[in-house]
Amino acid sequence: MTTPHGIIDTPNFVGVGTNGTLKALDNATVQKLGLQLMFCNTYHLMIQPGTEVVRKMGGLHCFINRSMPLITDSGGFQVFSLCHGSVAAELKRSGGKARESHVLRIDEEGVLFRSYRDGNKMLLTPESSIAAQKDLGADIIIPFDELPPYHITFEDLKHSLERTHRWEKRSLDAHRAQPNNQAMYGVIHGGPVLSLREESCCVLRELPFDGFAIGGSMGKTKEEMRSILQSTLPLLPKEKPNHLLGIGDLASIGIAIPLGIDTLDSSYPTRAARHGLLLTSQGPIKVEKAEYKESLHPIEFDCDCTTCQQYSLGYLHHLFKAHETVGLTLATLHNVRFMVKYMATLRKNILEDKI
Ligand SMILES: [Zn+2]
Repeated sequence: MTTPHGIIDTPNFVGVGTNGTLKALDNATVQKLGLQLMFCNTYHLMIQPGTEVVRKMGGLHCFINRSMPLITDSGGFQVFSLCHGSVAAELKRSGGKARESHVLRIDEEGVLFRSYRDGNKMLLTPESSIAAQKDLGADIIIPFDELPPYHITFEDLKHSLERTHRWEKRSLDAHRAQPNNQAMYGVIHGGPVLSLREESCCVLRELPFDGFAIGGSMGKTKEEMRSILQSTLPLLPKEKPNHLLGIGDLASIGIAIPLGIDTLDSSYPTRAARHGLLLTSQGPIKVEKAEYKESLHPIEFDCDCTTCQQYSLGYLHHLFKAHETVGLTLATLHNVRFMVKYMATLRKNILEDKI
C-alpha cells in the first residue's frame, strides 16, 4: 500500500500509538524497528491535547515529528467500549449487567457522553469525528460507527447496524468535501451474526470507500472470528485494502492472514511487554520467572533488536523485579521487533506459496 507518508508492505501488523506514541517507545525508535503503520486514537487525542491543538502544531505527523503512515479511528470505539467494556469483560459480568455508563444519549445525530477526564459533556457525530480526523491529518481515517455490545438482541443489532451505515455515509460525505489526501476505510459491522455481516458488506461496498475495515464484536472464540472473516472477506472488493480492527494476537494473526487480511492492529505486543511477557518463536515467556534470574542469554539468540543484542534475560528479569521503567522499554522494543519480523516471515511464506 502506498500512502502520502510511505509504503506499507502487506500483510502487516499495525502498532497502537493511542496518544501519538507506542507506550514506552519513542517514535524514532518505532520507525527504526521497521513498524510501517501506527494507529492513533481520535478519542484520546480529542480529550488530550485536543485535535485543534494538533492542527495548530501542523497535524499529527508534524506533532509527533515522524513521516510515517498513520491511521486514526473515529473515536466511536472508545466511547462505546468504555461504556460496554471488552467482550471478555462483558462476558465476565453476570448476565451482561451494564456497568455505570458515561454515555448519556445515543440517537440519530450521534453520541453524547461525559469526558472521563473532566466530566464535561461531549457530542460525537459523524461530522465532528471527521472534523477531528481532518485536524489530525492521518493517512487513513475511519468513519464514525457504533460498537454495540456482544449481548444484544438481533433486532437491536440490526437497528444499530442500519444507523451505523447512515453514520458511515455521513462521514464519507464530510470526508469527500475535504479529502486532504487522506483515504477512508468503511467499517463492516454486524457483530457475530453472519447475515448482518454480509448485509454490511453489500451496503458499504457500493460506497466509494478507499478500503474496508472489519470492526465490531468478532465473537467470543477464534472459530467465531474465523467464520465471520470467511463470510465477509469474499464480499469485499479485491482491489481495495482491508484492515482487521483491534485484533493482533499471534493465534488470531495465524487465522486472519491466510484468509486475506492485509493489516491488523493490536496493543497486544506492547501491553504484553509491559506485563513482562516476551514474544519468542517458541511462544511467549514470562521474564519474571525465577528460571531467568541468572540467565546470560538474550531473549532470543537470533533476534537483531538492541535489547537482545545488548542485554541478558537475567538483567531484564532484574529490571522488572526492581520496577525499573527502562525494563518496560526494552521489553516493548523486543516485542515490536518480533512482530515486524514475524509479519515479514508471513509475507515471505505467501510469496513462496506456503500460505
Ligand atoms: Zn529482541
